Amino acid sequence: MPHVITQSCCSDGSCVFACPVNCIHPTPDEPGFATAEMLYIDPAACVDCGACVSACPVGAIAPVSMLTEAQLPFVELNAAFYPERRPDEKVPPTSKLAPVPDAPVVHSRPGGPLKVAIVGSGPAAMYAADELLTQRGVRVTMFERLPTPYGLVRAGVAPDHQSTKRVTRLFDQVTARRELRLYLNVEVGTHVSHADLLAHHHAVVYAVGAPNDRRLDIDGMGLPGTATATEVVAWYNGHPDYAALPVRLDHDRAVIIGNGNVALDVARILTTEPDLLAATDIADHALAALRASRVEEVVIAARRGPAQSAFTLPELIGLTATCDVVLEAADHDLVRRDLTDETDPLTRNKLEILAKLPDASAPVTRPRIRLAYRLTPRRVTGETRAEGVEFTVTGTDQACRLDAGLVLTSIGYRGRPITGLPFDDAAGVVPNDGGRVVDPASGRPVAGSYVAGWIKRGPTGFIGTNKSCAAQTVHHLVADYNTGVLAPPSAGYRELDRLVRDRRPDVVDTAGWRAIDAAETARGGGQRPRVKFTSVPDMLEAAAAAPAPTLGRRLLAGLLG
Ligand code: NAP
Repeated sequence: MPHVITQSCCSDGSCVFACPVNCIHPTPDEPGFATAEMLYIDPAACVDCGACVSACPVGAIAPVSMLTEAQLPFVELNAAFYPERRPDEKVPPTSKLAPVPDAPVVHSRPGGPLKVAIVGSGPAAMYAADELLTQRGVRVTMFERLPTPYGLVRAGVAPDHQSTKRVTRLFDQVTARRELRLYLNVEVGTHVSHADLLAHHHAVVYAVGAPNDRRLDIDGMGLPGTATATEVVAWYNGHPDYAALPVRLDHDRAVIIGNGNVALDVARILTTEPDLLAATDIADHALAALRASRVEEVVIAARRGPAQSAFTLPELIGLTATCDVVLEAADHDLVRRDLTDETDPLTRNKLEILAKLPDASAPVTRPRIRLAYRLTPRRVTGETRAEGVEFTVTGTDQACRLDAGLVLTSIGYRGRPITGLPFDDAAGVVPNDGGRVVDPASGRPVAGSYVAGWIKRGPTGFIGTNKSCAAQTVHHLVADYNTGVLAPPSAGYRELDRLVRDRRPDVVDTAGWRAIDAAETARGGGQRPRVKFTSVPDMLEAAAAAPAPTLGRRLLAGLLG
């Protein structure tokens, strides 16, 4: 029974390296990898060994016999990636093992280990640390602004996608490494500077993501009842900066502008039966608001046509399996218009699912999602709060209005400039060459400075895409270290520790995070994965319950420093 990759595929490629017969593609060195919406198992070549199941950090792989009803479309989706064959045709196992990228070999140098500071603790930061710590003689210090690590896995992944959050088990192993020090609740740029980090390390890797939403510059945005989808994501995920966000659910319609995967996540959470969400780690304040919600319809409004939908096929399959999703008759016409002989296979798959969606005139039996196309937003209406959105039908002067009490924009993200580093304002990223920060004026690398993840390549891809992205950065960093380009640190870890604790007495370390984690899990009472703390003081109080390090640990930490 062949194995199948399903919706929560994170594309980190771990399964590719585990597969003994090279039947999972695209591999990280194949051209389609960077743009693939997921990875696919060749059913004719799979030998059913299950090695990929254990390697997958998010539990996305299962044998066909174990799939749920909702996962069955993924059988065909995996197979469709490969050339058509007779049903009985088996592909002989390839003798070549899946390509494993060279580990960066750190050449030991006088003066102690390679010391790297990583700023951020999301997927790109964790994969960079993991890659660095495959080597002996490397020490990593990780800085995070919040008292909790793991970035978008904690605050971005939707609560009903718990399997995607399983990647934190891998991250827990990384943060448990003795060669990694975690400084949580410390903001680089406020409590410590780039120069401070360089004085104590050979190099600094910024893996700070793209924290700013792209803003839609139309009248009415900013009225009560408007927000960005990302803010709402942070709100329902219990991010302490957004716990008090006013999310108005007192009208029967909400509109989301933009139709990427973030829009799908938010629409799904707004329309899912709250009792189902109650079994997840959704923030309690959001659950209470959703229980009282009057929203009956969430319209996801795209400015272009169905063939240009920004959401990915696995997410569309997941959405239609769990929610009522409808199209208006005019949008069904657009789908039919876009389905031509020239349509590429991936787009065809999406369009065929859209073509089968019920018509919006069908009776409403539970909160539903409507996908709407060719709507260019013109202004948010309302005097004192959002009352709707005025659109023009894209490419025409024809106006169209949707009443709504909540208007969210979901039109992508931008990186934020980092003090002391150049910034490409148009692209919203730090200019770099394969992760080496580059000064655009001179075209030369900026000494000791590197980037990984969304601040390096822009806001695209999935959690696992950051694995190969971070690996590339680490390879360049190690190459620079080996050739002696990186200046050795002028002070040791003890001085760094003193500096951080002087400037930020509330610093939270790995033991503090484990205490927060344990307290949140205990609050879940076995019924929910965790009940998150949603305020920094509550997190700090839980962290303070961590046992003090034993003398042995303190001595070991001193030796490692
Ligand atoms: P996205 O995929 O880039 O989608 C942005 C949407 O905004 C597009 O529909 C775009 O339309 C629209 N847009 C941009 N400017 C606009 C404007 N001025 N007016 C109206 N519409 C505008 O962004 P995202 O949804 O934020 O996702 C970011 C990344 O995270 C993606 O790679 C996504 O796959 C990933 N992600 C993945 C998951 C998952 O796998 N479950 C979940 C969340 C996010 P045009 O195409 O017309 O420009």
